[in-house]
Amino acid sequence: MRCVVIGSGFGGLAAAIRLQASGHQVTIVEKLDKAGGRAYVFQQDGFTFDAGPTIITAPWVFDELFTVSGKRREDYVQFVPLDPFYNIRFEDGTVFHYNGDDENQISQVRAFSNGRDVDGYRRLLNSTRPIYDVGMALLDKPFLTLWSFLKVIPDLVRLRADRSVAAHVNRFLTDDRLRRAFSFHPLLVGGNPFNTSSVYTLIHRLEREWGVLFCMGGTGALVRGLLQLFEDIGGKVRLSSEVAEIEVDRATKTTTGVRLVSGERIAADLVVCNGDVAEAYRRLVPAWARPSTTDARIKRYTYSMSLFVIYFGTDKVYPDTAHHEIILGKGYKELLEDVFDKKILSDDFSLYLHRPTATDPSLAYRTWAAASIGKSWGSATAIGSCSISRIATCRGCSRTSSPSVASIRATSSRRSTATMAARSARSRRLCSRRTCGRTIAARISPTCTSAVPARTRGRGCLA
Ligand SMILES: Cc1cc2nc3c(=O)[nH]c(=O)nc-3n(C[C@H](O)[C@H](O)[C@H](O)COP(=O)(O)OP(=O)(O)OC[C@H]3O[C@@H](n4cnc5c(N)ncnc54)[C@H](O)[C@@H]3O)c2cc1C
Repeated sequence: MRCVVIGSGFGGLAAAIRLQASGHQVTIVEKLDKAGGRAYVFQQDGFTFDAGPTIITAPWVFDELFTVSGKRREDYVQFVPLDPFYNIRFEDGTVFHYNGDDENQISQVRAFSNGRDVDGYRRLLNSTRPIYDVGMALLDKPFLTLWSFLKVIPDLVRLRADRSVAAHVNRFLTDDRLRRAFSFHPLLVGGNPFNTSSVYTLIHRLEREWGVLFCMGGTGALVRGLLQLFEDIGGKVRLSSEVAEIEVDRATKTTTGVRLVSGERIAADLVVCNGDVAEAYRRLVPAWARPSTTDARIKRYTYSMSLFVIYFGTDKVYPDTAHHEIILGKGYKELLEDVFDKKILSDDFSLYLHRPTATDPSLAYRTWAAASIGKSWGSATAIGSCSISRIATCRGCSRTSSPSVASIRATSSRRSTATMAARSARSRRLCSRRTCGRTIAARISPTCTSAVPARTRGRGCLA
């Protein structure tokens, strides 16, 4: 069959590789100039920034794509385990070094809770085993019919899937910091720990089973590896080619291919669309061909939270900053209520800081490092659920304090996302006027939109 796959994010790449490996002729059609989708890569001033995903917790998902293609993943990309998985930093200055080592975990739980939660932690860990077994078995099952869902209800009832992750964890632990450390995981997939089903505690188990891995060269290297694999087995890729319509034959109600924005037609017997589902239905599929998925229905969908990401490089290495840092604010439930229920930017927010150069220094500019009297360079991504505009001002580059915590935290009051975005833009203008000409390269983008083009001001701050 001739197949077109719309989108070259991980979903599109995976579908395309599987189809091509099964003997079909597949063309990936991607509107951006590079593959990767949310795993797009920005390169600037010698720094490489992975735009979105950075944490690999299910390596076998990638390995399978190589295996079904008759190749070995190790010949294309290298995964390395991280230790710690994350440092979790609390407002009171304490740090939980989270990893897969039982002894380490237990000694930290002991220290955090004065011994009170050690037994509870062991029971919590045991409780995630059956959840993991059932949850993983369901992970790749589509619930397309009522019956397919009814069949799993007994398991879900037995595992108390009606309880939230936070409720599940709180039954075992008493220390507030430990409760957060072992319940934040749904946030990684856009869920609120206070109302996401306890099935998602399987993420904790998943990390312990497989570790937290990083792809050398960054997530972009993984995208390039998958793209290379796809081409090696005969697939074709069309970049900078936006699909305007998925054509549907009225008589047979099957697709005949896609029409690009340029007007070109690509005929296909099968079209896989892996763009955002709401946008894809609304913009690409003619309304008559989707009688039950109307625009009105799509409007009523509930979307998961968004976040702001900034990318910056530094002229200094921060050896005490781990590859992954989770920097928690004072409130937890209150923050989650602001994000998920009230949908406002909180005064008190939490951050995820990614420092890939902790594992792979090649992601920062070596020439500069050589030229700067032995200094080596770091690059990092910080992600917060609120605006982090001030980090893009000269503040970050005029001071030597960690750009991660102090300056990112400095911002935010109760404002709507739009107001904060406008404020962020103002800060960036201010920053441009006060270009320091020194070391920080920063880029801000709300990740729900695609790349925000950056205007370079020498080596100073960017807007
Ligand atoms: C900031 C951030 C951090 C994340 N961190 C992690 C992490 O650490 N680990 C993890 O596992 N997951 C993480 N995720 C989630 C992960 O990135 C996504 O689940 C995954 O990348 C989605 O891939 P996808 O292929 O489904 O969609 P996308 O990556 O969104 O790809 C869709 C593609 O379709 C293209 N497209 C859309 N419409 C058209 C059209 N009309 N014509 C042509 N092309 C079109 C788009 O340009 C895009 O390239 C993170 C997400 C974000 C935003």
